[in-house]
Amino acid sequence: MDNVTDHHENRLDRTGRRDDAVRAAVEQGWLGPDTPIVGLLDVTGIRESAAELRAAFDAVVAPGTPVLHAFAVKATPLVPVLRLLRDEGIGAEVASPGELALARAAGLSPARTVLDSPAKTPAELREALALGIAVNADNPQELDRIDGLMRSAISRSPIGIRVNPQVGGGSIEATSTATATSKFGVALRDEGAREWVVRAYAVRPWLTRLHAHTGSQGIPLELMAQGTAELFALAEEINRRLGRPQIDTIDIGGGLPVNFGSDATTPTYAQYARVLREAVPGLFDGRYGLVTEFGRSLLAKHGTVVARVEYAKSAGGRPVAVTHAGVQVATRTVYVPQSWPLRIAAYDGKGRPKEGPEVVQDVAGPACFAGDLLAEGRALPLLEQGDHAAALDTGAYYFAHHYAYNSLARPGIYGFTPDGAGGVAFATVREPQSLDEIVAESGGAHASALTTLRTPGRP
Ligand SMILES: *Cc1c(COP(=O)(O)O)cnc(C)c1O
Repeated sequence: MDNVTDHHENRLDRTGRRDDAVRAAVEQGWLGPDTPIVGLLDVTGIRESAAELRAAFDAVVAPGTPVLHAFAVKATPLVPVLRLLRDEGIGAEVASPGELALARAAGLSPARTVLDSPAKTPAELREALALGIAVNADNPQELDRIDGLMRSAISRSPIGIRVNPQVGGGSIEATSTATATSKFGVALRDEGAREWVVRAYAVRPWLTRLHAHTGSQGIPLELMAQGTAELFALAEEINRRLGRPQIDTIDIGGGLPVNFGSDATTPTYAQYARVLREAVPGLFDGRYGLVTEFGRSLLAKHGTVVARVEYAKSAGGRPVAVTHAGVQVATRTVYVPQSWPLRIAAYDGKGRPKEGPEVVQDVAGPACFAGDLLAEGRALPLLEQGDHAAALDTGAYYFAHHYAYNSLARPGIYGFTPDGAGGVAFATVREPQSLDEIVAESGGAHASALTTLRTPGRP
C-alpha cells in the first residue's frame, strides 16, 4: 500500500485546486447565468497521473524494455487532452475512424497509436496498415481481411490478435469484457480456439503481438492480473511451439478501476504494477515489449462538471435542486445510478464551498423525464437558487460523451492550472455548442426534405 500521508496530501492538493478553479470560473465569468454549465479539467492532475503511470511501469520492467502507454481515446475524446498526454509521453488507443482522426489531429505519430475495435471496415484496416499503425485483429474474419491487405502491400504495422481470456466479469456487466460470451476478441477457452490461435501465428510470421483487455470499471485487480497471466502463458506457448520468439510485444489493455468515493487515487498504477509483477513475473523480464491502454484511470479524477442551480423546490417533502447537469453529461449515472454513483459537491453562488447542515435532497438535471437525477436522496448542504452543484470525477466517460437528449447544448470545457500568482488560469478545450450548430446537426440544411418528397398519386 502507498503510505497514508501521500494519499492525504494528494487529496488536499486536488481538492484545493478544484475549489480554487470553481471560484475562479465564476469570478472570471466562464460560469454564470447565461453559461450555467461547464466542464473543468485539472491539467496539473492529468500530468501527475501520466507521470505516475510511466513511473509505475518503469519501476517493474527490465531496463531497456520498450513500453508504450496508449491512452484509450474513448475515455476522453478531446484533441487538447490527447496533445497534453502526448506531451507527457503517452500514445493513443483508438477504436473508430473518428478516434483515429482525433489522435492524428493531436499530432500522435502512427508509432504511438494502436487500433482496436470489434468492427473495423476494410477501408479502416487499409488506412491503418498504410499509416503503419498497430492493429489488433478481433476475430478470424478480420484476420482474413488483413491477410488480403498484407498480400497486396507492404506495411510497417505491428499486428496482433485480441483474445478473450474468459476469466470472468466484475461488478458491472456492461464493462466486463472477459466473460464467457463477451463480444470481444477470440474466446480462448472455446473448443478449438487455442489451437486456431497458435496456428494463426505459425502461418503468419508478421503476427508479432498479442492483446487482451480484461475489463473496465468494476474488475478487481486480481482478476485483471489473472487475465494478463493467461495472455502471457499463451504468448509463451506460441513462441515455444513455433521455436522462435515471434510474439515480441504483449498488449495488456487498460481497465484500472477508479475510486468514485473520495478524492484519493486508489488503487494506484504502482499497486497494479506490483500485483502484475507478483502474478506474471516473466512479463517484465525484458523478452517482451509492453503496451498498456488505460483510459478512465488517467482522466476521471481530473474532471468536474459544474452546474448552476436554476431553481430550488420541494416535492413530497424532499428538496430538489434543478440544475443544468443531468443525463446529457452523466448518461450512465442517470440511467444506471446503482453502478455509476457520482459524488456531488455543493458550492455557493460565488463558487465557494457551501457550508451548513446536510439535508437529504435530490440533485436533478434539466432534461424532461423524471429519472434525470444526478443524485437521489443525497445528504448535502442545502442547494439554493443560484448555487452550484459539481459532479466530481467526471473527466472520463462523462462530459466528453454528450447525449443529445432535449437538444441540450454540449457545454464548454476548460482546462485550468494555478497561475503562479495565487489565481487560476483557464484555457478553452472545447467551445460550448451554439444553437446554430444544434440546428445544423439536426438537419437544418434539409428543412424541406420531407415535405418535398411526394408520394406518387397523392397531391
Ligand atoms: C475501453 C478500453 C480500454 C480502456 O479502458 P479503461 O477502463 O478506460 O481503462 C482499453 N482497451 C480497450 C480495448 C478498451 O475497449
